[in-house]
Amino acid sequence: MRIFNTETKRKEEFVPLEPGKVRMYVCGPTVYNFIHIGNARPMIVFDTVRRYMEYSGYEVNYVSNFTDVDDKIIAKANEEGVSAQEISERYIKECKKDMEGMNVKPATTHPLATQEIDGMIDMIETLIEKGYAYNVNGTVYFRTRRFRDYGKLSHKNLDDLRAGNRSLLVTGEDQKEDPLDFVLWKPKKEGEPSWPSPWSDGRPGWHIECSVMSKKYLGEQIDIHAGGEDLIFPHHENEIAQSECCNGKIFSKYWMHNAFLNIDNRKMSKSLGNFFTVREISEKYDLQVLRFFMLNAHYRSPLNFSAELMESSKNALERIRNAVSNLSFLMESAPEGEMTGQEKQDVQAVTEYRKKFEEAMDDDFNTADAIAAVFELVKFANSHAAGATKAFIALLHDEIVRLCDVLGIIAEVKEELLDTEIEKLIEERQAARKAKNFARADEIRNELLEKGITLLDTREGVKWKRA
Ligand code: AMP
Ligand code: ZN
Repeated sequence: MRIFNTETKRKEEFVPLEPGKVRMYVCGPTVYNFIHIGNARPMIVFDTVRRYMEYSGYEVNYVSNFTDVDDKIIAKANEEGVSAQEISERYIKECKKDMEGMNVKPATTHPLATQEIDGMIDMIETLIEKGYAYNVNGTVYFRTRRFRDYGKLSHKNLDDLRAGNRSLLVTGEDQKEDPLDFVLWKPKKEGEPSWPSPWSDGRPGWHIECSVMSKKYLGEQIDIHAGGEDLIFPHHENEIAQSECCNGKIFSKYWMHNAFLNIDNRKMSKSLGNFFTVREISEKYDLQVLRFFMLNAHYRSPLNFSAELMESSKNALERIRNAVSNLSFLMESAPEGEMTGQEKQDVQAVTEYRKKFEEAMDDDFNTADAIAAVFELVKFANSHAAGATKAFIALLHDEIVRLCDVLGIIAEVKEELLDTEIEKLIEERQAARKAKNFARADEIRNELLEKGITLLDTREGVKWKRA
């Protein structure tokens, strides 16, 4: 298995620190709103990396944080007149629903920054003791120039950075020893959440979070650290500086970064108004279509989101699902017993498609080529299943389902509703009741009941449970 390492700018053979195990950290979202489809890209891409590692026999310890203390969260809380915690808890819950819809597995651990403040204070103290950090009036800065390897990930030169940074010296920053120094701890401002520390009541800088959570849940050295390419500098560069200066060891062996998702060939941004949340997309499409769309491109290539591409992804996904459901149908009446001689030979062809799939994935997770291999297999299945034995049809069926599962694509659709779909139907039922359309309300209740969901009308609202 070869991985493109941002640090060396080459594809390298993957050799884990510990045989058979992978320790992987993926920077998660800042939770102040519904996640957008750009945030969904690293989730889908690195979940697929994890799934392929697991398929290849590795035990993966996958850690992905939620940044739940941040200026944007505080701003949103003030806007709504609620606590920052209420905002972050709300959007973590919503984010997990979107992840479920996209079939992104929950991480082994999803740490929250606000639960790890003690560890952050410890790491900052160590950095101060070792001379890598200093306190000025309650703000602690990292002494960037003390770390010789600074810039090794982003391939930036310290002197160029300094030249670029000089003009950025603004008020409040002039207490730094050097413009390149970055914040590890900052004193609170009025109305902000804060924690006591040896330097001031305040809160941590963003970069220290990931160094600390990665160390706590994965150890001082990890195999893979990942995120979107905008995180290379300064976030990941600063994480390296903090972790390596604190622990005296190389932090991560491989650094992986996904390219950006654009909309109609323009950068996706709120100000341009070309911005979609995953939730909005889910109103129009099964989120599996979004996942399929993302995996049709290489993760290191910029990807353009457009209605046409979503439509063609939808059709392509349906082609696979139709083939699988057709195989299930044929299986019901297919002859039992041993495969024919010809079928035994054809098993070899199936193995070849699997090999093609694996070769593509082994080559820095080339999911586009892996999907192409799945389509070749689908085409083969479509032309070889009619009249075949049950054993052979089952083999074709299981192979397609399994390879799709490695990509997180559900090829065999079971009639099971997702939490978000159930909640949407409940909302629709409430609206129908309000409009005194009791026939529609009953219809929804019955539809849910048929799928094993029972509703309970309580004083606090409608509760539901699966059978
Ligand atoms: P944030 O919540 O901004 O910290 O972002 C969470 C993750 O989403 C990070 O890994 C970002 O690099 C990634 N990300 C944000 N916007 C995009 C985008 N348009 N395309 C791809 N990845 C993105
Ligand atoms: Zn991070």
